[in-house]
Amino acid sequence: MAYQILILTPEMADVKVLQDVLCKTKDGPYQVTSETHLSTALRHLKKGNTDAILVDLSLPDSTGLATFNALIAAVPKMPILTLCGTDETLAMEAVQLGSQGYLSKGHFASYLVPQSLRNIIQRKAVEESVYIDKARAEITLNSISDAVIGTDMGGNVDYLNVAAEHMTLWTREEARGKPITAVMPLFNSNTRLPKTNPVAMVLQQDMATILTPGTILIRRDGSEVAIEDSTAPIHDSSGKLAGAVMVFHDITASQAMALKMAHLAQHDFLTNLPNRALLNDRISQAIGLAKRRDTHLAVLFLDLDNFKHINDSLGHATGDKLLQSVTERLCACVRSSDTVSRQGGDEFVILVTDDKSAENAAFTAEKLLKSLAESHKIAKNELYVTTSIGISVYPADGQDAETLIKNADTAMYQAKDRGRNNYQFFKQDMNVRAVERQVIEANLRLALVRNEFSLHYQPKINLESGAITGAEALLRWTHPQWGMVPPIRFIGIAEECGVIVPIGRWVLREACAQTKQWQDAGLRIASISVNISAVEFRRQDFIEGVRNILMETGLEPACLQLEITESVLMHNAEGSISILQQLKEMGIQLAVDDFGTGYSSLSYLNQFPIDVLKIDQSFVQEIKSSKTDNDGIIVSAVIAMGNSLKQKVIAEGVEELSQLAFLKERHCEEGQGYIFSRPLAARQFAKLLSLGISSPILN
Ligand code: C2E
Ligand code: MG
Ligand code: MG
Repeated sequence: MAYQILILTPEMADVKVLQDVLCKTKDGPYQVTSETHLSTALRHLKKGNTDAILVDLSLPDSTGLATFNALIAAVPKMPILTLCGTDETLAMEAVQLGSQGYLSKGHFASYLVPQSLRNIIQRKAVEESVYIDKARAEITLNSISDAVIGTDMGGNVDYLNVAAEHMTLWTREEARGKPITAVMPLFNSNTRLPKTNPVAMVLQQDMATILTPGTILIRRDGSEVAIEDSTAPIHDSSGKLAGAVMVFHDITASQAMALKMAHLAQHDFLTNLPNRALLNDRISQAIGLAKRRDTHLAVLFLDLDNFKHINDSLGHATGDKLLQSVTERLCACVRSSDTVSRQGGDEFVILVTDDKSAENAAFTAEKLLKSLAESHKIAKNELYVTTSIGISVYPADGQDAETLIKNADTAMYQAKDRGRNNYQFFKQDMNVRAVERQVIEANLRLALVRNEFSLHYQPKINLESGAITGAEALLRWTHPQWGMVPPIRFIGIAEECGVIVPIGRWVLREACAQTKQWQDAGLRIASISVNISAVEFRRQDFIEGVRNILMETGLEPACLQLEITESVLMHNAEGSISILQQLKEMGIQLAVDDFGTGYSSLSYLNQFPIDVLKIDQSFVQEIKSSKTDNDGIIVSAVIAMGNSLKQKVIAEGVEELSQLAFLKERHCEEGQGYIFSRPLAARQFAKLLSLGISSPILN
């Protein structure tokens, strides 16, 4: 592409000469335009396609330096050469103002003119691109968040970007020429000793380097920042070392963040207590120490007894506050060298270190029970929680953190079984039971789905007439591998994990449906007894559930008898009265099961709308075992009491003729036991219903 040259002169002869020399040259090609006036020239320049100007400063509409100034103002980056006569003074002044040079009239024809014109245009272009590169670098350096500091060979500062100014609090002007060690003094955060500036090393070894961790920069005002850097040598165009550049940034925030993350990873969010991971570490450390010193340590596993109830009824916010209050109490009960940790939910584990003996752990446990049992004031509520604690001791109960925690947990379950609000030390045989319990729980959940339950029916006999008055439905679980699992092995576990609710519902539906089916088939059965567990009995939807099942199955309410144990009824006697009354109003019969084993308050018993007292089999069996005066004394008393309270009395577990005779003699109304029949599967029981019980036993 040809260079576009504007010749600005009123001397047409000069134009001609220049045009000739420019158009003929090989150093081109050039395209020449000429103007005689500044005004028209400026208009021409606006088009923007001119590469250089040759100007005679004396024009009809402008003379002297004013001409040059007007041009440079219009096109500041354009190469401009002045054309001058013998007097070169003005041309030299124009050079001072930015002109690239001048041509004397006598030399216009020279072959050097096109050559120098091309040089000037090209140099100007190079200058421009260098300028752009530099501007770009400057802007980039000032917009990055990393601080950049440059030094010369002597380690004196020659550059700071904006971030470096902010970090060091030195301005570029003030820092320039100062030794790097003055602008950025460094020291080691641990030892507080001064550190060699990496610039010195780079200048010495001509190799890039980074700061060792833990470097602190002292800013100009004396404040400190933790920094991380990399420093590299810079070389000139010949590859010679010319200085160093250090790039660094503030890591105070990221260090704080890293610390916080580390804390979060090891602590519980709600209580700020060490979590499971940190506790494991602490126990492992404590074990190491105890081994060397030959001391003990104890792990206490705590579970709040009624936390779930509080959480469900008062909401999670209250539950959370309660956990925080519990945390405070726990921490107050132990030494600062002990670790209180939260495992999650309402479970806490405490590591008591350097324990001389197990008694110390017991002492701590007692302190904890007492402190926690006092009321917790949360919002406007006074809340009460109790705790069950399991204790394992190193070295007897485990050699590692995991085993100690697991065994303390097992002992905690034992404490729950023993009525809560107490502590238990771990014993080896607890493990066997704990494992069995877990296996049963897991299998129970499947049993309903897999249809593994069935009901057996045991007849209740009128002792006078020998007629079958009804039956008790008894749950049977046939596990595919274990075979028949007796109810005592699983009912308690089902109650604890809540599966008893769907199971109980299934039992009730099955028993009612079966009885209705027998009745429809013409078999005589006055009532079916179904056992109700404490968990079912206390549920809000219990009565509703019974009502629905009676409706679904079509069984008369009077044909259903619910058996509730004495201890369940007495647990919250006031509450029991209202539930029993509602059931009574529906026409359902009510029986107190296992009577005599609980602690009945007779005044309550009087208020319960009870139809039947079932004497517990243990009392009935006493009749055969002893021949003393006390023989059957409780059975006699219950029969007498039932009679005066107008309650029917039924004796459970009748096995022997002597027992039967005893009961008949005292006019016990009904009996149930192996002597009449074992519990039978539905089909066999139907046969029994139609044939009746053989009379010899009864006569
Ligand atoms: P329970 O309600 O007191 O039931 C009577 C238990 O005594 C039954 O044991 C029965 O088989 C047994 N038995 C009956 N006659 C005799 C006898 O002459 N001698 C002896 N030694 N035992 C006799 P089973 O079926 O093993 O049930 C045990 C307990 O399991 C029941 O005691 C009851 O508390 C519970 N249970 C059984 N089925 C259910 C159920 O469907 N729901 C609930 N919640 N509990 C149930
Ligand atoms: Mg029963
Ligand atoms: Mg019973």
